[in-house]
Amino acid sequence: MSTSPSSVLEADHREIVDSFTSFVRRELVPLAAELPESGDLPPAEMRAYVRRRSAKLGFYAADHPEELGGSGMPFTAVVQLHHAAGSSGCPLAPYALAGSDGPSPLLRQGTPEQIERYLKPLVRGEATRCLALTEPNAGSDAFRLTSTAGRRDDGGWVLSGRKTFVSNAGHADFAIVVAQAEAGATAFIVPMDHPRLRIGQCYAGMSGEELYELILDDVELPADAVVGGEPGIGAALGHGIDSLSRGRLVVAAMCNGIAEYALRTGVEYARERRAFGERIGAYQHVQEHLVTSRAEVEAAKLLTLACARLVDDGTEAPENAALAKLTASETAVRVVDRALRVHGATGWVRGHPLEFLYRYVRMMTIIEGTSEIQKVIVARAMGLG
Ligand SMILES: Cc1cc2nc3c(=O)[nH]c(=O)nc-3n(C[C@H](O)[C@H](O)[C@H](O)COP(=O)(O)OP(=O)(O)OC[C@H]3O[C@@H](n4cnc5c(N)ncnc54)[C@H](O)[C@@H]3O)c2cc1C
Repeated sequence: MSTSPSSVLEADHREIVDSFTSFVRRELVPLAAELPESGDLPPAEMRAYVRRRSAKLGFYAADHPEELGGSGMPFTAVVQLHHAAGSSGCPLAPYALAGSDGPSPLLRQGTPEQIERYLKPLVRGEATRCLALTEPNAGSDAFRLTSTAGRRDDGGWVLSGRKTFVSNAGHADFAIVVAQAEAGATAFIVPMDHPRLRIGQCYAGMSGEELYELILDDVELPADAVVGGEPGIGAALGHGIDSLSRGRLVVAAMCNGIAEYALRTGVEYARERRAFGERIGAYQHVQEHLVTSRAEVEAAKLLTLACARLVDDGTEAPENAALAKLTASETAVRVVDRALRVHGATGWVRGHPLEFLYRYVRMMTIIEGTSEIQKVIVARAMGLG
C-alpha cells in the first residue's frame, strides 16, 4: 500500500517505533513460537519476562519521567508504540507495554512513600498491580459502590465488600481498591497477601483473559494505605481527566494496530487465494470488505493520533478521547470480522491469528468504559441529556 495520510502524524517518532518493532521481531516473535498450543493467555512467567526486558530497553512505561524510572517519552510516541504492538501480530507484544497491570496514573498522585514503594517497581516492570473498582452492582456506574471503608480508632481503615471482573488479581503484588469512605469513594493500596483479602471466582474471558472476584472480609489497613494520603473522591479521581483520556487512547491505538494487522492479512490473502478461476481480490464483494476497512482504519488512526497530540499539548478534552476509543474499538471489531470473512474457513480454524483476534478484540469495546458510555460522554459534551 502507498504511504498513508496518518504517516504525516507519525513522522516525529519513527525512530523509536522502528526500534520497538525490531525488538518485537528479534526477541518476542521467536519467544512466541514457544507458547503452549493450549490456552490463549501467555504463561505469567513469560509475560513477566517480556515486561522486564521491555522496561530494561526503555519501552515499558515509556511516558513516565526518568526520575520514576521511565523514558520521559511524549504521549504521541507511546500511542504509536501501542499501535506497533497491535499491528505486529505478535501475541507477546502487548505485554511489552504498560497496561492495566502496570503503573497506575492513580499512583502518580501518591505520597512520596507510595511513589517509592509502589509506583517505581511498577515502572521498572518488577511488580504488577490490579485495580478493583467494579462490583456486582456497580459497573459502568462505577461510583455507586457498596464496598465500605470504615475508620478505626487508631486512624487506620477496615475495608469490606466484594469486587468483580478484576484483571491480573491472580498475579498482582498489590491491589488498588476503591471503596466508599465517609468522605466518598477512596482508593486504597492493599497487598495481595493480606490475610483478609480473598480471591473468589476466576472468570475465563473469551480470549483467555482471567478476571477475578475479590472478597474484602474486614481488611484492616494502616492510615497511610489511602492513595495520596487524603480520603475522598478527590483522591480517588486525583489522576483527573487527563489520565482517563490517556487510558482510552492507548486502547484506541492498540485497536488501530490490530485492525491494521487484520487488514494486511486480508489483503495478502485476497491477492493469493483463487476462486472461480480468479484471485478473490478481483471480486467487488471482497474489495468492499477491504476498502471499507482501509477507510475506517485510516480515520480511526488519524483521530487517535490527533487526540494524542492534544494530550501532549495539554488541550485534550475527554469527549475527544471517548470519540477516538469508540471509533477505534468498534472499527477493530468490524475490520477483524471482515478479514475473517475474506479468509473463509481458513481464518475460522482454531490457531489462525484472525480466529484469536476475533475473540480478543471484542473486550476492547468494554474496557476503559463501554462504547455506550463513550457515547454518553460525547452526548453530554454536545449538550444533550
Ligand atoms: C477484559 C475486561 C477487563 C476488566 N478489568 C477490570 C479491572 O481490572 N478492574 C475493574 O474494576 N473492572 C474491570 N472490568 C470490568 C469493566 O470495567 C466493566 O465490565 C465495565 O465497566 C462495564 O460494567 P458492567 O460489565 O457491569 O456492565 P453494566 O454497567 O451493567 O452495563 C451493561 C450494558 O448497559 C450499558 N449501559 C450502562 N449504563 C449505561 C448508560 N448510562 N447509557 C447507555 N448504556 C449504558 C453498557 O454500555 C452495557 O452495554 C473488566 C472488564 C473486562 C471485560
